[in-house]
Formats: sequence, C-alpha cells, structure tokens
Amino acid sequence: MARYLEAKCRLCRREGEKLFLKGTKCSSAKCPMEERPFPPGMHGQGRRVKVSNYGIQLREKQKVKRIYGLQEKQFLRYFKDADQMPGITGLNLLQLLESRLDNIVYRMGFASSRTEARQIVRHKQIKVNGSLLNVPSYRVKAGEAIALVDAAKEHLRINASTDAAGQKGLPEWLDVDLQQRQGVYRELPVRDQLDAGIREQLIVELYSK
Ligand code: SF4
Repeated sequence: MARYLEAKCRLCRREGEKLFLKGTKCSSAKCPMEERPFPPGMHGQGRRVKVSNYGIQLREKQKVKRIYGLQEKQFLRYFKDADQMPGITGLNLLQLLESRLDNIVYRMGFASSRTEARQIVRHKQIKVNGSLLNVPSYRVKAGEAIALVDAAKEHLRINASTDAAGQKGLPEWLDVDLQQRQGVYRELPVRDQLDAGIREQLIVELYSK
C-alpha cells in the first residue's frame, strides 16, 4: 500500500501545527515545531500569502488526511461513505476515521503513534474478537474487542506506550485494560470527545464544490 514518504515532521511544519505523527518525540523538546513552527523550505519563515477560502478548506483536508496517514483516494472514499450515511457528514467522517483498526490500537494506548499501530496490526499482533486481523483499515464496530497477541504483550515499545497512555488518560468511548493489553470499542465517539482542532465542516465544503 502507498505511504507518505515525506518526513513526518515536515508535514506538521507545512500545516503549521503539531499533528502528533511520531509518538513520544511529539511531546518532547525534540519536536521541531517547538523551535521552527513555520513551513519548511528556504522561504518558509518569510512566507505571508493571503489564503483563499478554497486554500483554507484544502489545508484542513490535507491536515486530517495526514493525521490519519491516508492517501487521497482512501480519504475521498471515507468522505463518500460519510456523505451517504444518515446524520452529519463531517461527524460521520471523523467517526469512520476513528473506527479504523490502526486508530483504535493507537487510541487504546498500545502504540505511540498511528504509524506504529499500523505496523503492529500488519505484523499480526492484534486480535479482534479473538481472531487475528492484519488489516489496518478494518472498520471496528461498537462492541468489538481488541487485544494484543500474547507474544507481543511485553514488548518494550508496547510497555512504553501503555505506560504513557496510562499517564495521559484514555478516551471515554473505549473500555481499556492496559494491564491485560485489551479493550472494547464501547461506542462511537460523539463530537465533543474528538479533536477540537479539526474543522471538518471545511472538508465537507471542499468536497461539496
Ligand atoms: Fe509533528 Fe511529532 Fe514531528 Fe513534532 S515531533 S513535528 S508533532 S511529527
């Protein structure tokens, strides 16, 4: 599957905000956004261009696409699915993205980033309802149980991730047992439980043109 090959920190600098793509580094002083919160490139610091409405909508879409590590086509597919579902398209979109298996593994604290979570899933270290599943895009349904396989439960990176998640706190819409390395996707998150910094309406407007 295609992946972003551009350095992840450049993506944050391009969007002008932390997208938390690199795990523990993102919350440390080593994060380049702490010192260079401006677009990459020779003229990044001096760039002051008036951005059109279209430009603002486009940047929001790019930002969310990058947060979830998706390619354009995949992202558009999520939008089309969201648009066909009953309810509010923007919220549907966020709920679909949050329901990806790699995202749930990340949200449950078993990985320090979505990239790491995707790797864990691909390496057959995750069970859904007791069965091995190595498809990061799998859409987890409310009530489904996610668990690490026994062989992965004590990996050092997983220990570090669960320790950090224990300190940071876990989403209310998940029931997680960090000790047992397992959890249940209790219910779809409501808007207030999701990233307040995302303006999903801009994405809806962009694709509705
Ligand atoms: Fe973004 Fe994380 Fe890199 Fe900071 S360390 S720029 S938050 S990916």
